[in-house]
Amino acid sequence: MGCPSCGARLADGTLVCTQCGTLVNAEQLNALANEAMRAEQENPYAAAQLWRRTLDFLPRDSEPYAAIHQRIGQLSAGMPADAIPPVAPPIQHRRERANDPWPLAVAKTVGSMLLSVLIYANLLPGGWRFAAGFVALMLVHEMGHVVAMWYYGLSASPPIFIPFLGALINLRQDPPNAKVEAIVGIGGPLAGTVGALICYALYHYVPALHTELMLDLAYFGFILNLFNLLPVPPLDGGRITAAVSPWIWMFGLAALVLVFLGQLFLQHTFNFVMLLILFFALPRIRATLRAHGRDNPYYRISRASSWTIAGLYVTLAAVLILATLGTQYLIHYRFGHDVGF
Ligand SMILES: [Zn+2]
Repeated sequence: MGCPSCGARLADGTLVCTQCGTLVNAEQLNALANEAMRAEQENPYAAAQLWRRTLDFLPRDSEPYAAIHQRIGQLSAGMPADAIPPVAPPIQHRRERANDPWPLAVAKTVGSMLLSVLIYANLLPGGWRFAAGFVALMLVHEMGHVVAMWYYGLSASPPIFIPFLGALINLRQDPPNAKVEAIVGIGGPLAGTVGALICYALYHYVPALHTELMLDLAYFGFILNLFNLLPVPPLDGGRITAAVSPWIWMFGLAALVLVFLGQLFLQHTFNFVMLLILFFALPRIRATLRAHGRDNPYYRISRASSWTIAGLYVTLAAVLILATLGTQYLIHYRFGHDVGF
């Protein structure tokens, strides 16, 4: 028989055209599926057999194939291993996009960096030196993510700088599991903290750099990376703590809401960035907690990995809290002004 849509020659009984994906024999598929659904209550064995038959006609990389394959697995859970003939697992297409050629990637990053420096230099009190230093610190943070992604061979966009939102990298490929996502997540704050510590060391050890600018850069570097450790997606802390338990996000969410309301009612400032983070966080939290509840293999990582990530996270957060308070005190003591974010 031929496909009514593209005319490709198809084997008898085919349900979905192998060339164009059109449903060729919808009634037959519906009949089988209805029969299988009716059988599920009284005779799961028969239902699994019927579902098994529909798979012969469906492409292995289609959504229905994956869904039905999963249903057969659930129905045959209590049955002897050989009750249902073996079923080929679905083929999962990863939505992969290749990396940009490197001149384009560099152009995107450097272009958006220059734009950010220009805007910060004009709108922030620190002038262009502070703007350039701050954007460089953000680049160090982003390169930490990039190195971790290179290590795991993950495809991603180059870092793009967005004035007043910082910088971001879009993963073009899903990480294989929560452990890899956590390591890619902690790479940024880890590198960023080293960058801010270098600013502090330059301030401390190089007499020519014993300036307020250097100390300000160290301070804002510390607080930037500390903020990114808040355990809530889409921040880095959200990606890291998901490897321990996504329920930790509840603390991050509560902290975000408290900070937002505190600023609104006590300081009378409306923090748009916070609102934006909340806006992105809520749907992701809902979806992940649901998937997590279903014992998703994505979150099945070894206990040792979970503990290592948790230890790294707590250590880094403690270092950043101390460093932030320390530099804040130094700036007040040495230069007589108070910094806040
Ligand atoms: Zn980051």
